[in-house]
Amino acid sequence: MNVGECYIGWAVDEDVRKRGGSGGLVVATLAAALEKGLVEKVLVLKKHSTYDAEPVLTSDPEEVLASAGSLHAVPAALSKKIPYGVKVAAVGKPCDIRGMYQMALRQQFNLDDTYLIGLNCGGTLPPVPTRQMIRVMYGIDPDEVVHEEIAKGNLIFTTRDGQEHAKKIDELEEAGFGRRESCRYCIVKIPTNADLACGNWGVPKDKLGAATFVEVCTEKGVQLLTTAVDAGYVQVEPASDKSKEIRKKVEKAMLDLSAKWRERIFVPIENRLEFYREALRHCILCNACKEVCPVCACGEDSKCTTMPSSLETHNHEFYHLIRFLHIMDSCVACGMCTDVCPAEIKVSTLQARYSLPFQEEKGYVAGMKLEKPPFFEVE
Ligand SMILES: Cc1cc2nc3c(=O)[nH]c(=O)nc-3n(C[C@H](O)[C@H](O)[C@H](O)COP(=O)(O)OP(=O)(O)OC[C@H]3O[C@@H](n4cnc5c(N)ncnc54)[C@H](O)[C@@H]3O)c2cc1C
Ligand code: SF4
Ligand code: SF4
Ligand code: SF4
Repeated sequence: MNVGECYIGWAVDEDVRKRGGSGGLVVATLAAALEKGLVEKVLVLKKHSTYDAEPVLTSDPEEVLASAGSLHAVPAALSKKIPYGVKVAAVGKPCDIRGMYQMALRQQFNLDDTYLIGLNCGGTLPPVPTRQMIRVMYGIDPDEVVHEEIAKGNLIFTTRDGQEHAKKIDELEEAGFGRRESCRYCIVKIPTNADLACGNWGVPKDKLGAATFVEVCTEKGVQLLTTAVDAGYVQVEPASDKSKEIRKKVEKAMLDLSAKWRERIFVPIENRLEFYREALRHCILCNACKEVCPVCACGEDSKCTTMPSSLETHNHEFYHLIRFLHIMDSCVACGMCTDVCPAEIKVSTLQARYSLPFQEEKGYVAGMKLEKPPFFEVE
């Protein structure tokens, strides 16, 4: 097994394979890493309900296997859950992992001690509006939903009676529902920044739902997968050229869709200062957007929080404008700042007005490599 190779794989245990989001390869690989002593702990997402989940750090392989399944749960600052000096394997979406790289760059987190399994990501759903969407757009009771998935451009909910209810994502998003706004313009769909990048794109038809396409991205990825195969937890076969081609094609279609949303959301502004003042008018300066940010490591005594108050203005725009500028090279566009804002300000989209064009101009995508961002090197 070598870096750059791609496989179709699944959990050997039939029950795990059935419960897995797409064949259970991920949880089986994580459980094998624990059992064989490659890592001391594993970070997985534990389901609370169809709509909510929580990252948990565990050393129990059974708890890891119990986490099987794909949840459309929002991102989390995963690196903040991992203690320094502990060997951990973690699973996350592209933005979850991009945030971990940013913290590693700030010496808050040791990437060398961490094995990362990334999940391809077409987008996640905000819990509260999603419940409302299910009522309004699908005409069903959200408490009756037991499963959700995105397939072929549809968002499908399965209810307790076994019935599937599908609607086009385009139609839902036109009506103001669907994926979180940051997911619509997200530019990383396959987490090649992880050690293993896993997803269902490219899985052959006869194995759809029962296997995962895995790209081995690093030597640590080789270690993870060979450990799982040698331990008898996972079975793999080489991915065909056709599988690789299909995966690329779907990724391109998703990125084209993101580009369309980007054009639609980021319309040019006439009076920039007025635009930001208006957008931030209802900010209550609670700092939740800073607190939750997976790339923010300064703490309370920082440029963005201290400067406005030392001017005795407590001016909201100052706080945000400093922050937008400060992290425009490191924002990974995860959308969490919008998720938590009690004033319903689209903080991440305001931030992205700075970050996206800046990172594009510099040919830099934050959180994809352990490299210094632009302006940190003098040539
Ligand atoms: C939100 C989301 C969107 C996805 N979109 C696509 C897509 O568009 N195209 C594609 O090819 N693949 C996508 N995937 C990946 C795919 O659904 C499978 O997760 C992947 O193939 C691995 O399957 P598995 O059976 O091996 O995983 P499992 O063995 O079931 O393990 C999944 C692990 O991921 C963790 N997990 C579940 N949900 C989340 C979450 N939201 N955030 C972080 N960790 C989580 C679970 O705790 C579990 O440990 C998506 C996954 C998620 C979670
Ligand atoms: S921002 Fe991107 S990676 Fe993160 S949840 Fe949304 S689509 Fe997935
Ligand atoms: S500023 Fe917002 S979108 Fe950017 S990384 Fe922080 S929480 Fe995520
Ligand atoms: S979370 Fe919202 S209200 Fe709180 S500081 Fe950020 S923008 Fe202001």
